[in-house]
Amino acid sequence: MTVYAQPGTEGSLITFQDSYDNYIGGEWVAPADGEYFENVTPVTGQVFTRVARGKAADIEKALDAAWAAFPKWSAKSATERADILWKIGDRIDANLEKIAVAETWDNGKPVRETLAADIPLAADHFRYFAAAIRAQETGTNEIDSDMVAYHFKEPLGVVGQIIPWNFPILMAAWKIAPALAAGNTIVLKPAESTPVSILELIKAIEDLLPAGVLNIVNGFGAEAGAALTSSPRIRKIAFTGSTTTGRFIAQQAANLIIPATLELGGKSPNVFFEDVADKKDDFYDKALEGFALFQLNQGEICTCPSRALVQESIADTFIPDAIARVEQSVQGNPLDTDTQVGAQASEAQMKKIKSYLEIGRQEGAEVLTGGDVAHLDGDLAGGYYIQPTVFKGNNKMRIFQEEIFGPVLALTTFKDFDDAMSIANDTLYGLGSGVWSRNWRTTYKAGRAIQAGRVWTNTYHNYPAGAAFGGYKESGIGRETHKMVLDAYQQVKNLLVSYSEKPQGLF
Ligand code: NAD
Repeated sequence: MTVYAQPGTEGSLITFQDSYDNYIGGEWVAPADGEYFENVTPVTGQVFTRVARGKAADIEKALDAAWAAFPKWSAKSATERADILWKIGDRIDANLEKIAVAETWDNGKPVRETLAADIPLAADHFRYFAAAIRAQETGTNEIDSDMVAYHFKEPLGVVGQIIPWNFPILMAAWKIAPALAAGNTIVLKPAESTPVSILELIKAIEDLLPAGVLNIVNGFGAEAGAALTSSPRIRKIAFTGSTTTGRFIAQQAANLIIPATLELGGKSPNVFFEDVADKKDDFYDKALEGFALFQLNQGEICTCPSRALVQESIADTFIPDAIARVEQSVQGNPLDTDTQVGAQASEAQMKKIKSYLEIGRQEGAEVLTGGDVAHLDGDLAGGYYIQPTVFKGNNKMRIFQEEIFGPVLALTTFKDFDDAMSIANDTLYGLGSGVWSRNWRTTYKAGRAIQAGRVWTNTYHNYPAGAAFGGYKESGIGRETHKMVLDAYQQVKNLLVSYSEKPQGLF
């Protein structure tokens, strides 16, 4: 067990600046109108720094810088760009602990997660796209004996990227790595509640990137965000966040006639078929862990397995065992490597979750465990903690239909395969899902029947680069974390060349 010191205290790995500016054109630039906003750590509820409150004028400045950098960056060979991306991955690894602590402090997620997952996955993402862009092939087609069609993939230009607060650094990596690999330059806006770990990451890598290639403007959605996504000077929007904001951004992309990739909300089903209950080996335990994984990242994951579907025939044994498993989770100081459940990312998010705890009760759902805010001691008393909660109810309830984004599980039972599939698909969303069974025919059939972009099979919450990620239905448009996303950051140039001396004979 390691307990990291709180940032800024004796022995800590990181001391935050008193204030952070925007990062534009390779420099730290104060906001045009001089306004800053307070940034709070959800671990204790205390303000720990102030951040530039960017607006339209700052976005314009960042777009100037990104367009100025574009000709040189796009003219670099794929090998040269890959070399830089690879070094960024290595630099992130070299700063692992420091960035992990910064991310934990800014977001409230346990350091065991940031150390083992968020930060190493972000580093790997840069290396994956370094390799993918070098391996990218374009087609040459022989049209006839005299004519050849050559295809080239060219970058789009300056792209606008908006990211959420639940995985600040990993979501930034998911967006930045493919965009830069493809030869674009970027203006990125972090979420207003978690900008600081990204700015610390930029400090660690800024010497590796030419000025203006990556620009960060901080601020609020309605100010900096909307100014970016409505600008006719961007050539693409990449967004991760709520479906409500995603719908608005899709309208802006339509107005601008530019592509948008949208990674939005979810209400993912996690389906447990009766044969998991055979206790002859470790698989039963694996399935119980799979049930308990709704608590990962305090449930603030668009793919949170927030609906558990358990086959009726095993409900009497599986559900009590699963609840016992949830109750073993260690909630506490996010800087302690033993902690599994940390703080919600903001007070607003904690209040939203609390309101759903009330809604669940009013709807008549049964509370099997949890059901309230969690009161922690000492410094943590001011932080934003919620007890992992399991409700039992039915799929028509709001707690089964609406994205809560907290450690709140809605549990129901099903009779047979068809019943399971009909409940699983009875949702507006289609991002993640899980199926658990020892029978490969069942898992395959369920995997194909569930309308979601990712079906974890006998596992959950793995996010490797190389496996496509994205939503069906209202969960979004486009795929990330796979080389196919490069197509979303490129346009195809076709050179159609005649090698014949003969006139075409049309005029
Ligand atoms: P949000 O979608 O409003 O915020 C995500 C990002 O979008 C932030 O950077 C925000 O500043 C920006 N943004 C907001 N309005 C914008 C606008 N008009 N133009 C451009 N950018 C804009 O989400 P939120 O308000 O922070 O959270 C609300 C709920 O959304 C959460 O409770 C959760 O249910 C859901 N959410 C989902 C995800 C996900 O990954 N699917 C991520 C964050 C939040």
